[in-house]
Amino acid sequence: MLLKDRVSIVTAASRGIGAGVATVLAREGSNLVIAARNLERLEGLAKQLSSQYGVSVVPVQADLTRREDVRKIVDEALRHFGKVDILAYNTGPPKPGTFLELTEDDWDYGVRLLLMSAVWITKDVLPYMIERRWGRLIYITSSTLKQPIPTLTLSNVIRISLAGLVKTLAYQLGKYNILVNGIMQGYIDTERVREVAEARAKREGRSLDEILRELEREIPLGRIGKPEEIGELVAFLASEKASYITGSLILIDGGRTLCI
Ligand code: NAD
Repeated sequence: MLLKDRVSIVTAASRGIGAGVATVLAREGSNLVIAARNLERLEGLAKQLSSQYGVSVVPVQADLTRREDVRKIVDEALRHFGKVDILAYNTGPPKPGTFLELTEDDWDYGVRLLLMSAVWITKDVLPYMIERRWGRLIYITSSTLKQPIPTLTLSNVIRISLAGLVKTLAYQLGKYNILVNGIMQGYIDTERVREVAEARAKREGRSLDEILRELEREIPLGRIGKPEEIGELVAFLASEKASYITGSLILIDGGRTLCI
């Protein structure tokens, strides 16, 4: 096991990529705090992971756009486990839309969801990582950071700042043995992606299957990724095996992004 007796926080973990990451970290022996807005789903996942892998999993209901909720996530980790070794930061998806469609409130929410929540939770976990001279900060973002998608304005604009955060923190925290990396995932098979594909199928009068096959054709590996495949990368980056990797932004997209 790569992460035996570690304590990890996974945010936005009630389903999709976050749940896939939590599953792999639990399989690798890490105790977990999993956070999202839907407590019922979190409790179900916590029960499943602890019975399957024998680790302790604490579910915390938290809206990442609210400062006091973010503070609660780290407080609960310390209360249950007395330390935080690994932060696997993931968020809900931002509102899609062109610049002209988005309101100032949408921007305000998007900045809190995609940027300020990362700043807040990093501030909260850092003192405990610095004290122990060990830590892993892993920010799960999107391949839009590398190659924007025309109608995902908030994602295209705000996520870029996470690249700055990764590079800056990696530089400043190396002396404390805290490693900082970002993940840029392409299409991953989650409920969200299926919902978006279903909406498009309806709009265009086509079948869901047709839309999914079209997405797959854009990907050299010929398929959409699985949430657990993001989990495998997070587990590796969080482990001692990745002891010389920091300040990196890693694409995991089946080869879809063509820019270097
Ligand atoms: P999803 O909708 O399946 O899951 C999102 C999770 O975020 C859920 O657990 C939900 O409860 C939680 N969440 C939403 N808003 C929240 C909030 N305000 N506070 C706390 N938790 C909140 O989405 P997903 O497909 O797993 O995507 C996860 C992230 O990865 C999103 O930011 C998405 O934009 C990004 N992303 C996804 C893909 C993909 O293909 N799935 C590709 C690139 C980037």
